[in-house]
Amino acid sequence: DTAVVLFTRDLRVHDNPALHAACETAARVVPLFVLDPSVPGSPNRHRFLVESLADLRESLRGRGGDLVVREGDPVEETLKLAAEVDADGIALAADVSPYAHRRQRRLVEGAGRRSVKLFPGVTVVPPGDLKPGGGDHYKVFTPYYRAWQAAKRRDVVGTPRTIAMPAGVGVGRLPKPGSGNGFAAGGESAGRRRVREWLRSVGEYDELHDDLPGDGTSRLSPYLHFGCVSPLDLAVAASEKDGAEPFIRQLCWRDFYAQVLNAFPGLRTKAYRPGTEENWKKDRHAFEAWEAGQTGVPVVDAGMRQLVDEGWMHNRARLLTASYLTKHLGVDWRDGAAVFMAHLLDADVANNYGNWQWVAGTGNDTRPYRRFNPVRQALRFDPAGDYVRRYVPELASVPGKAVHTPWDLDEADRRAVKYPEPLTLD
Ligand code: FAD
Repeated sequence: DTAVVLFTRDLRVHDNPALHAACETAARVVPLFVLDPSVPGSPNRHRFLVESLADLRESLRGRGGDLVVREGDPVEETLKLAAEVDADGIALAADVSPYAHRRQRRLVEGAGRRSVKLFPGVTVVPPGDLKPGGGDHYKVFTPYYRAWQAAKRRDVVGTPRTIAMPAGVGVGRLPKPGSGNGFAAGGESAGRRRVREWLRSVGEYDELHDDLPGDGTSRLSPYLHFGCVSPLDLAVAASEKDGAEPFIRQLCWRDFYAQVLNAFPGLRTKAYRPGTEENWKKDRHAFEAWEAGQTGVPVVDAGMRQLVDEGWMHNRARLLTASYLTKHLGVDWRDGAAVFMAHLLDADVANNYGNWQWVAGTGNDTRPYRRFNPVRQALRFDPAGDYVRRYVPELASVPGKAVHTPWDLDEADRRAVKYPEPLTLD
């Protein structure tokens, strides 16, 4: 019989349970990806996706298969292809966003006699597998982490040796990668290389992860987001290294927010914690200055410019920029989160909105009145000012830590740099 494997954000051949199961059980397998023009994306993100698809196609071709690429509504295109090849079933990875839930529901409704099977693979532990006594999901991280560490895991599955595709299926062309640049290449091959490299230094993560200019984090988030890297395989490989626990804990945060979104689909629009909706300001001027990296607070502007240039931002900078927007400028977290969604390569409804709500104090497991002092944080995590100088060229001539407080420069120096006064520091 014949199975269509719909790839979504599991763009890999290694440890891909949907692909693996289809190759084990069906005589013919048709791998498919549908480009959905209704999903917005920056040029950086488009490039990363296209590179990931090209790499996936290459891997499938190396095993006798190919990647069919269609464009349009993913459900309609999948059902059309399933009819074309007279498939008996459709296999895909289960996912947690409202978009993914709708896709799954519509596939089941439209598939008729064909089976639709969902497989794990997007998280280490499938969302919904772990439930606290009396609830449908964990609201607080630490007990979730404890349960997650103790949870029984599925086995990592190998790469299929051969993929037997039926003859005569039009595979379609990939779009051009376009002009985005700034981050490493997309795809499973690049992702696996990065994992190998990263695991050599994972033991230093605890000490280096907050160093803004040092790039001491894994930079694996885009690969994890698009599934070029299997989160389970990564967690297993990391657990064999000394001192990897702080890193593995971060992988658990990813699973944590996935199970939150799975149970609370309104995460993108509604305060998670009842009673924490505030009267956020609609201050266009402040919001636009923040978005453009022109707040006059160097560390905040550096973060926002890194976001737009590279499609990625250091976690500490995400915390500081989000906190400045919500806690200093009083602007709605939803507006800031939408800017992140538009630019981040790893943009992810669960992680992005979960973290924004955490910073804004509307989320679970947060302290609503915490607010980061951007100057103190900058002096602590970018003590020599290198991070700011890298992304804010107007300040490149200001030496050392003075770059964090350009308003304190003497008059002549202050006039020499074309950089705005801070919107607010209170
Ligand atoms: P590392 O520090 O090496 O961590 C390894 C992996 O663990 C990451 O790749 C990521 O998958 C996961 N992880 C780490 N921190 C978190 C966290 N706080 N929450 C959930 N998962 C985490 N991460 C996204 O993947 N997508 C987003 O859209 C996103 N939006 C964010 C918005 C805000 C306001 C904040 C404060 C954080 C956001 N994060 C998001 C979490 C975190 O900043 C990034 O995952 C991290 O910076 C990616 O870099 P890395 O791969 O080097 O991370």
